[in-house]
Amino acid sequence: MILTLTLNPAIDMSYQLDELKIDTVNRCDRVIKTAGGKGLNVTRVLKCVNADVCATGLLGGKTGEFIEQELDWSSIHHDFVHIKGNTRHCLAIMHEGNQTEILESGPSIDEEEAEAFFHEFDRLLDQASIVTASGSLPKGLSKSFYQKLIERATKKNKKFLLDTSGEALELGIKAHPYLIKPNQEELAAIMGTEINTEADVLAGVKKLASMGVTYVVVSLGKDGALGYVDGRAFVAKPPKIYAVNPVGSGDSMIAGLAYGLDRGLSPEEALKYGVTFGTLNATEEKTGYVQADQVEDFKERITLRVLE
Ligand code: ATP
Repeated sequence: MILTLTLNPAIDMSYQLDELKIDTVNRCDRVIKTAGGKGLNVTRVLKCVNADVCATGLLGGKTGEFIEQELDWSSIHHDFVHIKGNTRHCLAIMHEGNQTEILESGPSIDEEEAEAFFHEFDRLLDQASIVTASGSLPKGLSKSFYQKLIERATKKNKKFLLDTSGEALELGIKAHPYLIKPNQEELAAIMGTEINTEADVLAGVKKLASMGVTYVVVSLGKDGALGYVDGRAFVAKPPKIYAVNPVGSGDSMIAGLAYGLDRGLSPEEALKYGVTFGTLNATEEKTGYVQADQVEDFKERITLRVLE
């Protein structure tokens, strides 16, 4: 089973307006309400390809209940820890070709809730082969929270795929996760240098590998992704596509990597699934969605270039 973590989920509200008028009332009859958060995007993509997946994290209040209901309707297995605060809303207003977002910071997690999560995580770990953790940490949790989860997973010999940024990522790396997946911008932030060329990316992944990460993947948007594992470096590149909505492509890539690794495939083959899921998601209007019947054919069209 693949266990996906979403510690700061949200109800994503998308409003379509012809025009956004400031300092007055805007009426809207095109509203889409979905269970959101990067980890839930990973979960949904894995469900699209019928993988054995369970979503966990922290949920609270009526908004939390809505997310559980949505997961039930999609027949997605879930096991969240309930908190006292209310799960947040995130608003995206689409207007005149623009996207204006208002993101609530979300509830604050207390010590008792954090302990309850550790307990639940340890229990779920016994049934999991791979763990994915995506997105930011909610208020109240220490920045070392992912680091502690990685330590627990590693003790039980479970692969941990970490997709976050900033201090949570820097501390997470100290616990030696199996895989991290920064994009170019995130890699530049960790390295504290500009990343402009393939040689810069290669130097970056080698540095991260020397810090104890087994498999470093850097996603490169339409150019695919560069992987570095056991001294081997390679680039998986998708064919040209017409991108409709690339939001959630990074999450879809994590889903593809987990899918491939869970099936016991090599890192190279797993990366091909990562690039396949990421690219197919970009061709869809929906966020965190791939058409299962397109996957295998598309994967055959990914080219793998060995660098080292
Ligand atoms: P996000 O934060 O939006 O989820 P990200 O910055 O983490 O994304 P990207 O590098 O943008 O990750 O995308 C991940 C993968 O999705 C890429 O490696 C690629 O395979 C695919 N992808 C993303 N955008 C495009 C695009 N415009 N055309 C083709 N493939 C894309």
